[in-house]
Amino acid sequence: MKSTPHRFTFVVSDQGTRKDRTEVLIETFIRKQLRLKAHTVTRVEESQACMLVHIDRLGKRLLRCGVCRRRCLEVHDIRKEREWRDLSMRALPLKLRYRPRRVECPRCGVRVEDFPWAEPWARVTTALFNAVARLARELSWQGTARQYGLNWKSVATIVKRAVEYGLRHRARPPVHVIGIDEVSRRKGQVYLTVVYDLERRVLLWVGDDRTEEAVRPFFTKEMGARRCHTLRVVCMDMWAPYAALVREHATNAQILFDRFHIVKHLHEAVEEVRRTEMRRLSLKERVVFKRSRWLLLKNPWNLTGDQKERLSTMVRWNTPIVRAYYLKESFQLFWDYRQPARAKAHLEKWMRSAMASRLEPFKKFVRTLRSHLDGILPWTKQRLSNGAVEGMNNKIKSISHRSFGFRSAKNFIAAIYHCCARLPLPVER
Ligand SMILES: [Zn+2]
Repeated sequence: MKSTPHRFTFVVSDQGTRKDRTEVLIETFIRKQLRLKAHTVTRVEESQACMLVHIDRLGKRLLRCGVCRRRCLEVHDIRKEREWRDLSMRALPLKLRYRPRRVECPRCGVRVEDFPWAEPWARVTTALFNAVARLARELSWQGTARQYGLNWKSVATIVKRAVEYGLRHRARPPVHVIGIDEVSRRKGQVYLTVVYDLERRVLLWVGDDRTEEAVRPFFTKEMGARRCHTLRVVCMDMWAPYAALVREHATNAQILFDRFHIVKHLHEAVEEVRRTEMRRLSLKERVVFKRSRWLLLKNPWNLTGDQKERLSTMVRWNTPIVRAYYLKESFQLFWDYRQPARAKAHLEKWMRSAMASRLEPFKKFVRTLRSHLDGILPWTKQRLSNGAVEGMNNKIKSISHRSFGFRSAKNFIAAIYHCCARLPLPVER
């Protein structure tokens, strides 16, 4: 490794007439970039692989405690050399090398000093840490690693550390309206529970299953009794096992079964009827019904002329599919009612006709509706739904697709928090 002094020459020109030449040592340049006060850069070595920046304490300047950041008068001892990766200087990776001191803190006792360039546990500088963390919000962990010449594991560690830091330091304003939803991992074999603040449209919490037990810590640990008290509305799926938890921990909150989930179940009923019928039809009849799924699920005013014609043929031909179609359409009127009594009357009437339809999937749907009415009718007053955070659910889906490192739930959960919870990153000093 050769050790030549590096000099940058900055030419300050005064309209081209007189020239002042200012030379800046690379040591000074880096010291200023790192904003060192009690430390200094003693030497910069350049090799094929990296730029190595040697750092030392500056005279007898007071160092700070790594725990409480107070100034300490006494240095206890000098530890062995440590290295930190920093942002690259052009193509060359920059490494800082320093022998940390242990200081005698009047409050904490003997502690490792505070490094102005890095968090105490970090093996990279805060500048590099934050750059990696920011890019990992947009790219896969593999892609981020490639960009910064790190390995996948280092990026995983940085993201997990960033999430830990962010969760400890994030703002916690009172929460009034939450949406509880589930996301699947590994093609629907494993489920996670996600909780959103529907007003701020931000992720609050992720649980590693969708059972009542797995979600309880959200109410007891993440929220606690005091914050649960301000919850006004909790939006969720009818099929979800979370209602009991809300009744137990957030007694002031109104349970609202999510419009988008209800419609999803309704569509599933239509689809089930269609599939059963398709199996029953003759080959010739089937042609008309082929690819009719979207025809039946689409809003009628969105259909093209051609699609309308196909629909009317279907109406003439087959009654179960048509009955399902009309049931679906008439149910949807519910969402426009603003008076609870009228909305209820509509729903009652609808449920009676669905029960009389002799369509088993619809009867099943009605039975579920009936046992959840107290969380469906409040829609007339609380026009809220998890649709507000649908974009975030899609983001989570794309996160699960972009990395094969998420076979472990821990990594996947960290990635979800990292991309959806708007967590703060460590402050660069
Ligand atoms: Zn201290």
